[in-house]
Parts: sequence; structure tokens; C-alpha cells
Amino acid sequence: MTDAAAASDDLMEKVVRLCRHRGFIFPSADIYGGFRSTYDYGPLGVNMLRNVKNAWWRSMVQLRDDVVGLDAAILSPPDVWKASGHLATFTDPLVDCRNCHERWREDKIDGVCPNCGSHDLTEARAFNLMFKTHAGPVEDEGHVAYLRPETAQGMFVNFANVLGTTRKKPPFGIAQVGKSFRNEITPQNFVFRTREFEQMEMEYFVPPGESQEWFDYWLTERFAWYLDLGIPEEKLRLRHHETSELSHYSRGTADVEFLFPWGWDELEGIANRGDFDLLAHAAASGEKLDFFDPGTNERYVPHVVEPAAGATRTMMAFLIAAYHEDEVAGEPRNVLRLHWRLAPYQVAVLPLSKKEPLEPFARQVLARLQPHFMCDYDTTQGIGKRYRRQDEVGTPWCVTVDFESLDDDAVTVRDRDTTEQVRVPIGDLVSELRRRTGEMSP
Ligand code: ATP
Repeated sequence: MTDAAAASDDLMEKVVRLCRHRGFIFPSADIYGGFRSTYDYGPLGVNMLRNVKNAWWRSMVQLRDDVVGLDAAILSPPDVWKASGHLATFTDPLVDCRNCHERWREDKIDGVCPNCGSHDLTEARAFNLMFKTHAGPVEDEGHVAYLRPETAQGMFVNFANVLGTTRKKPPFGIAQVGKSFRNEITPQNFVFRTREFEQMEMEYFVPPGESQEWFDYWLTERFAWYLDLGIPEEKLRLRHHETSELSHYSRGTADVEFLFPWGWDELEGIANRGDFDLLAHAAASGEKLDFFDPGTNERYVPHVVEPAAGATRTMMAFLIAAYHEDEVAGEPRNVLRLHWRLAPYQVAVLPLSKKEPLEPFARQVLARLQPHFMCDYDTTQGIGKRYRRQDEVGTPWCVTVDFESLDDDAVTVRDRDTTEQVRVPIGDLVSELRRRTGEMSP
């Protein structure tokens, strides 16, 4: 193994260990030995995952006037997946190893069983990735339902509902964040590929002649989102699909890729899907899924540009990119240099003593900050250790309350990255921290 490969393995291992030990991500059903490839997000992970989704929602919905939100059902009838093409084509080619009986994705293994090295593999068979279940008390074909393998179909199926209730007209988008399920055969690399995961998808409906222009626009926008939230430029790239990689309806697809410890891999796919989806659902449902423009008296089926990202996968990329080891005053430390918007806690309040009169005073400082920031409150062990703990989980600012605070009504604000400490009057604390986020004062 080369030094670089060993360092990459090491980084991955360190991030996974940190996630587990600091309460970001636990193996699911842990006390029963875990359930392969499913994970639970712990007290810190749930905050961070929410922050990732909120940052996406803020950028895609809140800061725009041309995108609205949606939260569609996860359980859905076969009709939807028949029309979308998922029942027929959402498959992976699978082979079995005749020697050890493991099952693999043919396109991932180069004709050799990764488990035992045998070349004695079966012919590939198509395996549908959708989770199938039954809705209601009868387990027959008439009651089949599927767990959605993507959130996107919710937007197509609700196109007319949204159009009829929001007065939007193309170009406009419908955004959704939520769980999706795929019965992946080779889930791998921690939360990179799991059977249950979260997506952040937006369908942007445009007049047919404008799809290329909007495709280019969304490539730029989405790429910038990752950079703005702290992924370094050298670890991010756009990869345009070759024509042979494109799905039959796609007029262009590009992936935003991140340099994971094992190499470049996809965070998000941005596709110019043409009118494929609306036409398919219109034909299957018999409903009109088009737009009448009263300005031009024209009726047309909008084309769709889709930026489709994974929330859980993206959270992992942010964690990997943020992980650093450095030294403070000659002491080694682990630090997550997370963007403040993504950090599980933005502020930690740390009283130097856990007794009266400092404790109740520090709690008042905490109460002042809580409406504005997600805060941790830690009274255990020495202050140096507490700083290290906060550094390791990415808390950008520590607020230390000491005995002088009782007299001067001020606290010390410590910065995670520079470790610089500044005295701030308690009355100015919220606006000082807001200033540091780059947001406006309240
Ligand atoms: P891949 O090629 O990695 O299987 P895909 O191209 O099938 O992904 P899309 O259908 O385009 O993925 O889904 C959009 C995004 O959803 C992906 O870029 C990824 O971030 C996320 N995603 C898809 N499948 C999974 C999974 N099994 N686990 C975690 N995230 C996923």
C-alpha cells in the first residue's frame, strides 16, 4: 500500500471513529449487533444533518422567489413507478459467486469475486432496487406499494397541484428533502451508499427552448453551494457524463464530485431531463401536465432541469473535508473546521466552576444565546479539555464564564480555528457572534 493510500484509509477510519464516539452516527440496532448498512444519527449527527438540509433549503427555497417546497408521501402505488420507468429499468446487474455464494454488482467487480477471488460467477440477472411492501391487511398483488427510491417523482406527480395553487409559471421549481430507499446490493463506505438515505432534490420546470441555459445555470449554482459551505476547491469537481452514460431521456448530465478518501465520487447529479417525466405521467394518468401561457396563448409541456443531491452523503463529505489535526501551544488536537452553519453546535457555554454563584450566572448567559444559536453547555473537567472536546466536534465559538464575569458582566469568546480569545460584554454577545457568522445583527 502506498503512503497516500494508507493516509486515506486512516482518514476514513478516523472520521468513522469520531462519528461513533462523539455521537454523530451510530450503527443501527447497535445493541443487537447492528443491521447492515443502516445508521442512526445521534445527538450531534441529527443537528448536523438538519443543518445540511436547512442550508440546502435556505439556498434553494428561502432565498428565491421561483422555487416552492413539497413534502410528498414515501409510500406510493405501483402506477407512479410504472410510469416513471423504475419498475422496468431501476435495476442493477447481479452475479452470484458459485464458490462462496456471495452476490455482487457485476459492474463493480471486474469478473472476480471480491470475497474469495473466484472467477466462477453466474450470468448477470437484473435486480430491481425498489423496496416492495403491501399497504393494508391483504398481501396480494392488488395491495403492492413501494418505498420511493427517489423524491423526484413526488414533484412530477404534484406538478398540476402546485401549478394550480401557487400562481407560479415556468421557469419555476419544486423542491423536496426527504428519505429515499434503495435495496443496494453493495452498500459501502459508511453512509456514502446506504439502503435508507436522505435526498435533496429540485425539479426546475422551464420553457422547452431554455433548458440548456438553465442546465448551465444550475451547474454553477450547485457547485458554488458546496464551496460556500467550506469544501475546498481542490476537492470538488464537475464531471460531465459521456453520451454513453446518459439515460435515454437525458439531454445532459453532470455530477458534482468530491475527492473522498477512496477517490472521486458523486455528491449530486444535475440532469437536463427534457419533457420525459411530465409526458410519461400525463400519458399514464390521463391528466394534462402542461402549462398554458396566457401571455403568448401557447400551451406547452415544460422541460425539466434536476439538481439531485444526497443529504447523508453530503454530510459525510463535509465531515471528511473538515477533519484536521493540528497543534495548539505544542499540544496536538483534532478539529473539525466546519462552516458555522453546519456545525452541530454553534456555541458552547463553559462556566469555570459548576457551583454557585457561577453556575446560575452561566445558565443566564446560555438562556440569552439559545434563541439565536444551537448551544452546548458543559461544566465537566478542566477548561482546556472542554475546548478540545468542542474543537473535535466543530463548535466554532466557546463562551467562557469566569469569576470576573460576575463583576464586569463580560465573558471570553474563543474562536475554534484561531484559538484567539476576546472579552465581550454580555449585552453585546449575541450581536458579536452574529457579526462573526457574517449575518446581520438582530
Ligand atoms: P450512485 O451512482 O452513487 O448510485 P445515482 O446516480 O443512482 O447514485 P441519483 O439517483 O442521481 O444517484 O441520486 C441523487 C443523489 O442521491 C446522489 O448523488 C447521492 O448523493 C444520493 N444517493 C443516491 N443513492 C444513494 C444511496 N444508496 N445512499 C446514499 N445516498 C444516495
